[in-house]
Amino acid sequence: MNRLVVVLSLLAVLVAGLWMLAGGEKGLRKFAFTRVMPVTYFEPYTVRPGTLDNVSGPVYTFTKGFSRALVIDTPEGLAVFDTFDADFVSALKTALALQFPDKSVKWIVYSHNHLDHVRGSAGLQAEQVIGHELINQFVADWPEAIGDFAMVTRPVTGDARMNLGGVEIDFLYMPHSHSSTLYGFHVRGADVVYAPDMMFVRAFPPFDFPDFYYPGYVRALDRLIALRAAHYVPSHLDAGNFQDMIDFRNMTVSFHEAVRTELAKNNYDAAEGAAMRRSIQAAYDRLEPEYGDWHGFDDMFVPKFGRHWGGLYLGY
Ligand SMILES: [Zn+2]
Repeated sequence: MNRLVVVLSLLAVLVAGLWMLAGGEKGLRKFAFTRVMPVTYFEPYTVRPGTLDNVSGPVYTFTKGFSRALVIDTPEGLAVFDTFDADFVSALKTALALQFPDKSVKWIVYSHNHLDHVRGSAGLQAEQVIGHELINQFVADWPEAIGDFAMVTRPVTGDARMNLGGVEIDFLYMPHSHSSTLYGFHVRGADVVYAPDMMFVRAFPPFDFPDFYYPGYVRALDRLIALRAAHYVPSHLDAGNFQDMIDFRNMTVSFHEAVRTELAKNNYDAAEGAAMRRSIQAAYDRLEPEYGDWHGFDDMFVPKFGRHWGGLYLGY
């Protein structure tokens, strides 16, 4: 039996060696590319049907596929926070018509300018569209990537307190965090925080999402945590609670610190492939025991490592 294992192992090494010889490292990397993009990250979520759930008082969430919008029921009409895409909006309209047959959507509120949060919005035909004053300008830069967008008609800058149909909402501006137009929202009366792109429940964000500035992003997470609200609502993946918000913040910082510790050993010189190879291994070994079972840990480890390695080098 032992001899069989030895022979099989030798054979495997021989086959791998021949294969490597055929393409060398390029061959190995080309093979890795065929597997590197995950098919297990989005797939469990994209099949989710639409569900409208009450969170607290007049605040609801609508979850479909990968995304989750906030809905507030007011005596004057409904407010919808983020619209994601046309399919999402179509399912949302059906759910709202069932739950609130006599009400229409009076307000759309955009959390930020990213196209994956604002597509489909024209389909709601809201009276007013609220969002950061730069959103229209950012969206106009991507005419091919967006078609059914309702432009912001009520621009906001900085922190704001708004009264939508008698429900007060704190708009918490998060400068230099994730995009330059990001808001978190606190519905104080129901003690609900909507944390768009600022909370992932036991999950790594997709490709460590582009367009964020690490120090400002952590300040944004800390600002939401300091509210110590009863309910926290993420815009993607699973629903969660206050502790999940804290855990996500701590994972974000732990990951960054693991990469920073490695880069410090190289005197913050990131432009060295051998150091990157050593460091990604060390960071993986350090983080895997605590976060290895989080959704997307393996799927997103490489892009996330690259993002923080580069970010530490450049200061972003
Ligand atoms: Zn975003």
